Amino acid sequence: MKNEPDIVKELKKLEKLGRLKSLSKHAYGKPEGEKVINETTKKLFNITKEKTIEQETFKSEKKFRNIFDSTSDFQLYLEKGIILDINAAAINLCGITKKDVIGKDISIFKIIFSEKDLKKHITAINNANNGLDVNDYETELKNKNGTNYVFLFSTDCIKDHEKIKGILVRGKDITQQQRAWQELVKLEEKYRILAETTADGVITIDPIGRLTYVNPAFEKMLETRKSQILDTLFRDYLSEESVYFFQQIFIDVRKKNEKKENVELELARNSGDNIPIEINIAPFRKEDQFTGMVCTIRDITERRRVEEELKKSEKLKTEFMNIAAHELKSPVTPIKGYLDLILQDEKTSKKVKDWAKVSLRNSERLLRLVDDILDVSRLDTDTMRFEMEKLLIVEILDEIVEDMKQPVESKGLKFITNIPRNLPSIFGDRYRLAQVFKNLLVNAIKFTDHGSISIKAIKNKDHILISITDTGIGISKNEIKKIFNKFYQAYTGHDRRNEGTGLGLFICNEILDKHKGKIWAESELGKGSTFYVELPYLNKNPTNAEK
Ligand code: ADP
Repeated sequence: MKNEPDIVKELKKLEKLGRLKSLSKHAYGKPEGEKVINETTKKLFNITKEKTIEQETFKSEKKFRNIFDSTSDFQLYLEKGIILDINAAAINLCGITKKDVIGKDISIFKIIFSEKDLKKHITAINNANNGLDVNDYETELKNKNGTNYVFLFSTDCIKDHEKIKGILVRGKDITQQQRAWQELVKLEEKYRILAETTADGVITIDPIGRLTYVNPAFEKMLETRKSQILDTLFRDYLSEESVYFFQQIFIDVRKKNEKKENVELELARNSGDNIPIEINIAPFRKEDQFTGMVCTIRDITERRRVEEELKKSEKLKTEFMNIAAHELKSPVTPIKGYLDLILQDEKTSKKVKDWAKVSLRNSERLLRLVDDILDVSRLDTDTMRFEMEKLLIVEILDEIVEDMKQPVESKGLKFITNIPRNLPSIFGDRYRLAQVFKNLLVNAIKFTDHGSISIKAIKNKDHILISITDTGIGISKNEIKKIFNKFYQAYTGHDRRNEGTGLGLFICNEILDKHKGKIWAESELGKGSTFYVELPYLNKNPTNAEK
């Protein structure tokens, strides 16, 4: 032992480290003689190499063993159809011991698999034995507590020098994914049924504009079979006028990633007739990429027909109103004339004068109503004539103030005016603008019993703002928006008779619209109202109103 050659010392060191345990005896046998030592050394080093590989394999096997045991996947190792190993996850699921399983074949798992699924495993293992890996077959699994799972299995051949040594059966719990998927399928199914049964057309379009889905309602609309429509361009089914418009919308939806609603287009059928449609378009996006659009399409033929009918009947109504108004006006004008004469005649008794006054007041009211109706019918048919000219608003306002002074004061109200002289010119119809201010002042007088009425004007950035304020009954908040509607009359108290028509403010609004102006009101019930009129004024550069 003392004369140990170096190599033996080395071996001992290795032995201590546990790397040459079984082989060092080869070195002890022949300690002397260079040749022997050389041979021994050679042999020893060869064996050392092999042993190192063996150790490494052992280590890696250990590593795999750990993986085999620690994974939550179900794992079995079989050789020649016999189970040689089972991992902890599988044992836990089955509720049996390792001893019960080792040495048995796969049929031991009939406790967790149905007969049908067990057959799947047998086929997969047989295939693997013949060198065919089997990927992803699904089976159900009932664990020891009776809970159902869905597993995805696969088998892998373990080969040793190209020979099949064993088979690894692995199963992954996909119960959660399966459930989520089923939910998704159910959801998709729901939308599919919705799309298939809705009366509106539903289509999807790819990023190039080709139809990728069409529902039965769309097929019916086009009178063409689905098989002929799919994969063709949607724009091919639009009328010539609609194609360009649709292309613009398509680009817009794609670029802005925004929905477009109630777009009116026309479908061109093979038969040659076009049908009006209303289409809603929404973009599809996947990971920030435009992947197409979904469109719902409504056939609006019937709606268009009703609209046409309505237009026709509106026209008839307006025509009728026009004729009726003229017919009413003709006899009232001479009646009014004769009443004037009766009132002026000195011989007329007081009693008759009083009757004549009432009749005159009512015939004036009738004339006003007729005039309003005529104006509305002119506005409805766009036949109201506007004599537009450059004019000074001060002149119109001064005239109105002059005319209204007496009616305001005769009601015991204070008339406040504040109209600056240097207001710029405007472009408008003198008569129609006077009609607006007169109507506002008549209303202010009508609905004010105490206090004052004021008329003011100021020059804003590019408008003249005229305000008419009263201290009258006021208008409630929910009615203030409606008073500009045709025939709308706000509630003015149970003891107050409103002798108007509900057309005045509607007419004012329309007239101002034609002047590119605005009218609105602010009011507080019981305190009074202010009506504002805004009119653009002329400067060196002509305003919109002048164009
Ligand atoms: P009308 O001929 O009935 O006056 P308008 O269109 O001129 O029709 O006015 C509509 C309604 O608005 C009136 O009936 C009234 O209820 C309300 N209204 C208009 N001006 C005033 C005001 N200055 N004060 C209170 N209510 C007003």
